[in-house]
This record gives sequence, C-alpha cells and structure tokens, in this order.
Amino acid sequence: MTMFDTQSLRQEIITACLYLRDKLGYFIGTWGNISVRLDEGLLLTPTRMEYDQLKPEDLVVISLEGEIIKGERLPTSEMELHRQMMLKRPDLRAIIHSHSPYASVAAAAHGSVPVIMDDMAEVIGGEVHCAKYVPACRHQELAQAACDAIGPDACAVLLANHGVLTGGRDLKEALVAAQFMEKAAMIFIQAQVLGGAHKIPENHWRQERHRYLYKYGTAEDMRDDPD
Ligand SMILES: [Zn+2]
Repeated sequence: MTMFDTQSLRQEIITACLYLRDKLGYFIGTWGNISVRLDEGLLLTPTRMEYDQLKPEDLVVISLEGEIIKGERLPTSEMELHRQMMLKRPDLRAIIHSHSPYASVAAAAHGSVPVIMDDMAEVIGGEVHCAKYVPACRHQELAQAACDAIGPDACAVLLANHGVLTGGRDLKEALVAAQFMEKAAMIFIQAQVLGGAHKIPENHWRQERHRYLYKYGTAEDMRDDPD
C-alpha cells in the first residue's frame, strides 16, 4: 500500500486506538501507539493527541530512515520503537505498542512469557522475551533493546518496567496478537498459584505456528497433523 492510498487504513487505525483504550483498557490517555508499514515507510499515530479527537489526516507517514514525509503533526515519541522493529522484523507489517496491565506485570518482573497456550503458539509464535530496562526518554536505546530481545520467532516483546510491543502481518492480526499476548501474560501470572503453567513443547508450538501462518482457513487445516 502506498501513502496515497491510506484513507480507510487511517480510519481503521483510529478505530483500533479507541478499541484498545475504551474496550480493552490497553491504552491509557495518549499512552499507546500504532504503526502500519507502507511502501514508502510507516503510517504512525501522532504524539500527544487524545484518540477521540484524532482525525485521519492527523496520522503521520515517516520514511524508514525516520524522516516525516507526509503529515502536519509530529509522530508518536515512540516512533523509533516502531521504525527499528520494522527494519529488524520485516514480517511485522503492523505494530501495536501498549502498556496493557498483565504484560506490564511480566515486564516489571523482567520475566519472559513462555509458550503456554495454543492460541499464543499460533498468533504470537514463540516465547516472549523481556528487553533490558532503558528509560523511556532514550528512544534509540529503547528501540535497540527491544530489537535485541525479540528474536526471530515471537511477534511480541516486553519492555522492562514499561510495556509491550506486539505485531502482525496486518493491523487486524496485530490487534488479535495484542489480546492473546495480554491473555497469555495473565494466565502465566495467575497459574503461579496452581504451581505454575506448563510450557508447550517446542516442536508442538512450532507446528501450530506453521499451521496458523500457512494453512489456517484452508482444507489442509481440517486434517490432523502427525506428531
Ligand atoms: Zn510506551
């Protein structure tokens, strides 16, 4: 998609912001942001704008080098997180950064969330690691820490004492991934009272991830996979 063809995408991003804030509680105030990959770079939410005031033209297009190429406003101050992550992981074409509650608990504990649920295996696709702590004002360093921690598999990473970054092949998938990430973090934490969650063996979660990425919704998805 080019930056000249983003009218409905801009509206989708605004709708997603409001859903994340009002229905899910993952965005609080103006904390939380979204990016979607375009041919020319990234379409990003602007900095310090209340989401219910946001109009499609308030979103900003930046190049992969970080220059504003379309838009009157400044992009989110967390632009570097989105930009560097999209360079590191080109498979993530939409990214949601939030401070959702349970992912934030895991991030405050500097813990990883292993693959403990089938839906997490499918949509997140791997163990979610926690980046080292970097103060939020050090944008470059924070983005680098997130890129160092994410690895090649999971489409999410925790930011120590800060929040979480979740991605997908498009905005809809990133939104689902953000919800499964939060659910996995919640289950992982709450399962501690029952002695702790059991991990899904790696060969099984990889098989489930592969099935989701390449066979979901096809006739092949109806057949049993061998062990
Ligand atoms: Zn943040």
